[in-house]
Amino acid sequence: MKILITGGAGFIGSHLAEALIGRGDEVCVLDNLSTGSLDNLNHLQPELGFEFICDSIFNERLMGRLIERSQVVVHLAAAVGVKLIVQQPVNTILTNVRGTEILLNLAANSKQKVLLASSSEVYGKNSKIPFTEDSDLVLGNTTKSRWSYACSKALDEFLALAYHKDYGLPVVIMRFFNTVGPRQTGAYGMVLPTFVSQALSGKPITVYGDGQQSRTFTYVQDVVQAIMGLIDTEAAVGQVFNVGGIGEITILELAQRVKRLTNSDSPIIKLSYDEAYQEGFEDMRRRVPDISKLNKLMGFKPRVNINTMIQLVAEYYLTHMRYYGKKQAAGISLSV
Ligand code: UDP
Repeated sequence: MKILITGGAGFIGSHLAEALIGRGDEVCVLDNLSTGSLDNLNHLQPELGFEFICDSIFNERLMGRLIERSQVVVHLAAAVGVKLIVQQPVNTILTNVRGTEILLNLAANSKQKVLLASSSEVYGKNSKIPFTEDSDLVLGNTTKSRWSYACSKALDEFLALAYHKDYGLPVVIMRFFNTVGPRQTGAYGMVLPTFVSQALSGKPITVYGDGQQSRTFTYVQDVVQAIMGLIDTEAAVGQVFNVGGIGEITILELAQRVKRLTNSDSPIIKLSYDEAYQEGFEDMRRRVPDISKLNKLMGFKPRVNINTMIQLVAEYYLTHMRYYGKKQAAGISLSV
């Protein structure tokens, strides 16, 4: 099968490209390298059936050609990461809304199956846990730029479902819940790579707020399995799926585990949300997925627990991140 992955040089996309090439698919990655990196794809460049194109999803001509010659499009290109969203709100809204609109419009011509990456962020401040796919979306005020991401993804979802209804475009919507793993960068605010890099470099581990907010982390390989299953399953078309893990954990507990599992001397410090992001920043208190819909559809079960996720991310940092230097990395051992 020929598969186009937009944003495929990013964290999730590069793992997906690798798995698809591994099972014999042809993969074309389109990425403007704004937040993705060629380092994530270098090992795939010599593979037969792999192609990388550095360009923007706003390049309609190119997109039209690439979509037309593919059977499936996995649309991962998006502005992600709470820090990035708060710092660059215009970029977030335009990338997510305009980019998706262009893609859906082009795909509607030749009816390629489109898998759209959405986010658990769309559930917003809904306090009814766990979130099922038909739960309400409870978003904050437009004066708080954090919500522009949820709102842009919600609009993407509406648009995809509308293209399905009006034009028969086969779409599948995936709401990812805090995906983590090797190659994820902490540069845009994601908590696990941030904590792990702080712990390994002996810097303070920065817990925002009181640390009692919780998340449910999902390992990237589990997410990749879910995406591949959704590519293959006809019955998924026209539907929304939570793609998440199990095991809710508070952010304070996460910081403590990272410290313990990396044998770190870093202190754990608390920073107010105002200091960490901007004045009046609103966070979600709890975020837990109900994944029974995906389980019923294709027997999806997340396999990797949070301790293993922490260890795999720490191992990645120790072996790949140049700035730790060989000497420092050599002196660190991980607890099993
Ligand atoms: N967080 C934190 N310290 C950090 C980065 C994030 O305490 O250095 C918190 C953040 O405020 C949120 C949680 O960790 O409550 C998850 O943040 P992330 O940005 O990874 O994802 P989110 O779930 O907010 O989209």
